Amino acid sequence: MAKQQFEAESKRLLDLMINSIYSKREVFLRELISNASDAIDKMYYYALTDDQITFDPNDYYIRVDVDQDNRQLTVKDTGIGMTKDELENNLGVIAKSGSLAFKHENEIKDGHDIIGQFGVGFYAAFMVADQVSVTSKSVHSDTAYLWHSEGADGYTIEPTTKDSIGTTITLTLKEGSEDEDYDQFLDPNQLQTIIKKYSDFIRYPIKMELTEQ
Ligand code: ADP
Ligand code: MG
Repeated sequence: MAKQQFEAESKRLLDLMINSIYSKREVFLRELISNASDAIDKMYYYALTDDQITFDPNDYYIRVDVDQDNRQLTVKDTGIGMTKDELENNLGVIAKSGSLAFKHENEIKDGHDIIGQFGVGFYAAFMVADQVSVTSKSVHSDTAYLWHSEGADGYTIEPTTKDSIGTTITLTLKEGSEDEDYDQFLDPNQLQTIIKKYSDFIRYPIKMELTEQ
């Protein structure tokens, strides 16, 4: 008898992600920053294979911004970006890792810096956000795309404008309650503590404006 494929139970998997896999919500930031770092590493690899592109380390960084009025947190990178297909395949399918595929395609052995492998880290964003937008322009595409999702119901992708290559991820944070404080993720000083705790090893600069207190 022919083997049946398992159905991708995306909604249940997303619920599992949001509620069970991570012990602390704050690790969503580690996941987004590691993806940003991976994207810059991929740009570095790409530059090695293409004479037209030079890799100047000064052009590559990760930036974290908050917009308190709109309850938004943004993680931006100047990495390799995603094409429309990559947005669909890498963000639209839970447990699919574009980074693991990249390591295989480029025969990058274990122990290399690219961190991603399980294809679930990105969804950690939904632990703290009820809306996630990803604006990305790939080094392989002239068009930029906006991926948008409000969780388990799915996502949309549409063309958008973006000047530079790279990816900007915007989280609209959940409204907090007495025991669930999401406002901490709008406080640059708190964010800095979280970044120091989990992302200290990242080799690209992580820029953020600190508010005066
Ligand atoms: P993993 O990092 O384990 O591969 P994630 O769920 O964290 O899994 O991310 C899924 C995939 O989405 C990545 O492998 C990568 O291909 C793509 N991706 C996520 N964030 C970015 C980003 N900032 N820039 C480019 N690609 C990204
Ligand atoms: Mg990841």
